[in-house]
Amino acid sequence: MDTENNTNTGAMRDLKSLSKGELIKLMEELGQPAFRVKQVEDWIWNKNASSFDDMTNLPKSLRTELAGKLTLGGVEEVARQVSEDGSRKYLLRLPDGATVECVGMPSGKKLAVCVSSQAGCAMGCAFCATGGAGFTRSLTASEIYDQVMHVRDDFNTRVTSVVFMGQGEPFMNYNNTLAALRKLNDPEQGGIGARHLTVSTCGVIPMIRRFSHEPEQFTLAVSLHSAVQKTRNILMPGVKKYSLLNLYTVMGEYVDRTGRRPTYEYALIGGVNDTRDEMDALCDFCRDTLAHVNLIQLNEVPGSKLKPSTQRKAEDFLNALARVGVEATIRNSRGADIDAACGQLKQRLS
Ligand code: SF4
Repeated sequence: MDTENNTNTGAMRDLKSLSKGELIKLMEELGQPAFRVKQVEDWIWNKNASSFDDMTNLPKSLRTELAGKLTLGGVEEVARQVSEDGSRKYLLRLPDGATVECVGMPSGKKLAVCVSSQAGCAMGCAFCATGGAGFTRSLTASEIYDQVMHVRDDFNTRVTSVVFMGQGEPFMNYNNTLAALRKLNDPEQGGIGARHLTVSTCGVIPMIRRFSHEPEQFTLAVSLHSAVQKTRNILMPGVKKYSLLNLYTVMGEYVDRTGRRPTYEYALIGGVNDTRDEMDALCDFCRDTLAHVNLIQLNEVPGSKLKPSTQRKAEDFLNALARVGVEATIRNSRGADIDAACGQLKQRLS
């Protein structure tokens, strides 16, 4: 697993990668009063300063000293697409040149943000543009946090929820994902309630178990996409070694331990996972569990043979799940007109 620090490159450390203790020590070494720590934290976590010169309530000499010792991380917008429904999708460049996508989805007074946890992804899901393009590296906690700040500043409004459903498998970058969740949740940083912070995993079982022991009430979504082992192995080869039986068991443990309702994501793919057998298997998998199922029409990836199911099929699944007492929703794909599937904006520009 990557840690916050070992994915940074270059000789100078990123100010945002310092722990609170390290920041306090640095200010002491620079002969600064204790209140400077809070001022610096405010600039990096709330005001999203893009340069040390922005930190106008710090003495000029301190700003110069900091700039000589540390970098300020941050993300740079390379491209964006704006949807008719108001969603905005961004391609952001990180300090080492790696790029990631994130999306802002406004709805009334709410603003949801979808972030990436890795640049690229090693999981190789058959229906995903990012999976097809390979893995670059995991992101640090502050690189994940910075995506949220970028969207917040662009919409100039408070972010009310964050989903880790962009590029990457968050549980293959567990420590930094957790650290980012905690920053987003901290009232002095992101200030977003734990229940409004959702991690989406392909089903990395050891990390689901670990996540269920975390004290915060973060929420969990699992990309299921088939409850038939053979189909799931083809669609999601990265989690082939974690069987559906083991996934079922660990999800039971998760619910028993946390009392929280997990979500299963199910992208309906015509002729692949929308057959009668698949529907029955999904009903069996979810029956008598607390799970909620999100049925999604597949986002088409250019050049892929996989096509979305019909709306009628989605409704059939919804009704079948209701008959066995499982809550389900047909989720509208936000930003369908802007290549909503992750990885496509990046591919378009490369
Ligand atoms: S769907 Fe998610 S986990 Fe699967 S390849 Fe794409 S980014 Fe990776």
